[in-house]
Amino acid sequence: MEEMERYLHRLITRHRSATKEGKPAQYIPELARQNPDALAITAVTTEGRTYGAGECPGYFTLQSIAKVITLIVALMDRGEEAIFHQVGMEPTGDPFDSLYKMELTAGEKLRKPLNPMINAGAMVVCSLVRGNTLDERIQRIIHVIKEMSGNPEVHIDWSVYESERETADRNRALAYILKEYHMIQRVEETLELYFQQSSISVRCEDLARIGLCLAQNGRNVDGKQVIPESVARIVKTFMVTCGMYDQSGEFAIRVGIPAKSGVSGSIVAAIPFRMGIGIIGPALNERGNSVAGLRILRDLSMEWNLSIF
Ligand code: GLN
Repeated sequence: MEEMERYLHRLITRHRSATKEGKPAQYIPELARQNPDALAITAVTTEGRTYGAGECPGYFTLQSIAKVITLIVALMDRGEEAIFHQVGMEPTGDPFDSLYKMELTAGEKLRKPLNPMINAGAMVVCSLVRGNTLDERIQRIIHVIKEMSGNPEVHIDWSVYESERETADRNRALAYILKEYHMIQRVEETLELYFQQSSISVRCEDLARIGLCLAQNGRNVDGKQVIPESVARIVKTFMVTCGMYDQSGEFAIRVGIPAKSGVSGSIVAAIPFRMGIGIIGPALNERGNSVAGLRILRDLSMEWNLSIF
């Protein structure tokens, strides 16, 4: 076994007990059923080598990580100017599904969600993805994930989708506020696309390859430019400023790697021109980030000196 793989095994062993400090997301019943003890990491390097440790539970849903991909597609569809006319570039310091700042911006001329990594911002971004039908639009998002990960089997987990859809009162509230502010028009269709993109399912190694593609400014593991360099730069910057919800500042200081988490317990990380990392560990802290995943990334960054700062 190579040094890298041995090291990843050590990290998993060291932080396995951290899974006891959190629990899977409870507000989506299908996610609450995930194995709280699961923990796995995969790293794919720029040379195309794959290293893994822990036990990946097979496919899991992207949840908020999908916001990164949907932003990529919308930026490719409409360009920077059009997107940032509708959604801001600033971190919020609030939980991802907060309604609070929506009201605070109510007196201003142009009301827009503060960034595309919070739910409200991601809904606006969803509404900007091109396609004649809902199916065409979600397929275009899935296509980009297939290109970035090289896995043609990426698909939607329809039971997680149903489960989120049935319990999404808060997200519906956000979407209807956005409609009132004329930020989105077709609420139900936008919500559908939002739930479907959250439920796109990948494996740990797919996440690592997605991270690698971003780390290589849009080139996938085969060297193919699948997203423009300028788009990769924008989304990586959002990963630094807003990728870990309202824990992004602490993460930037302690880890210093562009990363995005999802409430499935997943994390994707892009270490510029070195490697992509995928982690799954469904036990979450109170901010919605994988407890063990955070510790693993902190150690990896410190011990290998990987912070970009
Ligand atoms: N589907 C989730 C939601 O909107 C995604 C959120 C997340 O991963 N933080 O509630």
